[in-house]
Amino acid sequence: MRAAIYIRVSTEEQARHGFSLSEQYESCCSRALEMGAGGILKFTDEGFSGASLDRPGLSALRDAARSGHFNCLVIRDPDRLSRRLAHQLLLTEEFEKYGVRLEFLDFDWKDTPEGRLFYSIKGAVSEYEREKIRERMSRGKLQKARLGGIPVNFDVYGYTYCPKTGIVSILESEAKVVKDIFKCYTGEDTGILGLAERLNRMGIPTRRRSGPWHRQVVRQLLGNPVYKGEWHYGKARREQSIIVPVPAIIEPELWDAAEKKLSRPLCSGTSRGKRQYLLSGLLTCGDCSTAMHGCFTMWWGKAERRYTCRKSHGDLPGCRPAKYFHAGALENSVWLQIKKLLADPRTLSLEVANMLPSTGETQRELAKTKKELHQTVKGLSAVLEALAEGLATLDDQTRSRLASMQTRRIHLEKQIIDLESAAARGSCREPEEVYAASAKIISGLDNLDPDTKRHLLRVMIAGIVVTGKAKKEERFQKENQIIVTGQQQ
Ligand SMILES: [Zn+2]
Repeated sequence: MRAAIYIRVSTEEQARHGFSLSEQYESCCSRALEMGAGGILKFTDEGFSGASLDRPGLSALRDAARSGHFNCLVIRDPDRLSRRLAHQLLLTEEFEKYGVRLEFLDFDWKDTPEGRLFYSIKGAVSEYEREKIRERMSRGKLQKARLGGIPVNFDVYGYTYCPKTGIVSILESEAKVVKDIFKCYTGEDTGILGLAERLNRMGIPTRRRSGPWHRQVVRQLLGNPVYKGEWHYGKARREQSIIVPVPAIIEPELWDAAEKKLSRPLCSGTSRGKRQYLLSGLLTCGDCSTAMHGCFTMWWGKAERRYTCRKSHGDLPGCRPAKYFHAGALENSVWLQIKKLLADPRTLSLEVANMLPSTGETQRELAKTKKELHQTVKGLSAVLEALAEGLATLDDQTRSRLASMQTRRIHLEKQIIDLESAAARGSCREPEEVYAASAKIISGLDNLDPDTKRHLLRVMIAGIVVTGKAKKEERFQKENQIIVTGQQQ
C-alpha cells in the first residue's frame, strides 16, 4: 500500500490553537504506518485558508491521486481538505474515483448535523430521480392493478402480502391496533397527537419496529381507505387512482366517521385539503420545546395559515404569550436553507453524474430491448405465415393483433436507437451536460407539487427547531434562529 498524507494549517489556527504542521505530520504518519504503508508521500499547505481550493499542496495531491501515485490518504479531519462541506464531498468523490481510500484520524461525517443533512439531501434527490424513472415504468403495473392484482410490494400496516401469490391477508396483531385507533379517534375526544402519544406509552411497535408513532403516521393510517377494503393505486389524487379490493379491517361507517373528524376544520393541526402545512410534524419550538402545528385562524379579520406551539386547551406546555408564525415566511426560510445547501452546482453535479444510468445499465437495457424486438418480429412473421398457409383467416381480431405487433415493433426499434446513442454518450459524460441536469433539479425542486414537496421534506429532514418570536416577514430570517436537522441515513 502506498499512502499519502495531507496537512494544512492556516496562519490563524497556528496563532490561536498552537496547531503545528509537525503535530499533524507525526500523527498522520504513524497512522499510515499502522495501516501498513510502504512509502508515504507528503503534501503540505502552510498558512492557507480552507475556504479556497486553490492551494499548491492540494493541487499537487490531486494530481498525484489522478496519476495513481498512492491508494490511501491520511488526513486529520475533512476540514483540512476544505472548510466547505460541498468541497469536502467533491474532493472525497474525486479521491474515491481514483481508487484512493480516505482515512481520517478521528472523525466521522455522519456524526455531524451538517453531514447528516447533506446525506439526506443526497438521498432525497436521488430518490426523487428514481421516483421519476419508476413512474415511466409503471404503466405495466397500472395494467395489473386494473385487473385486480396487487402490482407492487404492498406494505401496509395491518396486512401481510405474499408477492408470489399476490394475496393480501389481514395480520391480526396489527389489525387489532388499527381497530383501536379508529375506535379511540371516533369515540373519544382524542386528537391525532394524543393517539400517537398513547400508542408510544403503550409500547406498541410500528411497522418498522423502530422509532415512535409519529402523528403523521397516525393521520395517514386514519385517512387510508385500505382499511375499509379499498386499496387506491396510482396517482396521489384519489379520483385518478385505481381501486383494488382488499380485506377490510374497519366497517365503512366507522371509517367514514373518522374521515369526517379528520376533515373537520379545527385549529388543532387536523386541517386537510386546501390548507397544506408543509412543515407539520417536523417543527419544534426552541423556546418552550413543544411541537408546533399548523393552524388556520383569523388575524385582523383575515384568515391566515400559521404555525404555533400554543395548545388549544388545558395546562399543556406552550409559549405564553402565544407564539404564532406566518406559515409562508417559515416555510420559505426552511426551503431556502435546503436550497442553499444544494446551490453549489459542483456538489450537485457530482450527484447527478452518479444518478445518470451507468453504461452497464444501458447495455443491459439494450440487450433486453433487442431480445424483445426479436420476439416481436418472430411473432409477427408467425402470424403472417399462418395467414399465407391458410391456417388463419384475416378477421378483425387477427387484423388488430397484427397492427399492435407492428406498433410495438416500431416502438422497440426507436427505443433501441435511443439506447444505442445513450450508450455511446455514456462513456464520456460532458461536464456541461451534467451541470445542466443539476440546474434542472434545483429549479425542479421549486416547481414540485405540494404533496411531493412535503414528501421530499420528510425524507430529508428529521426536525426543525425554531427559536425566536419575530413575526414580520422582513425580520423573520434575521431575528429567529431556524435549525434544520437531516434525517439519519
Ligand atoms: Zn413555544
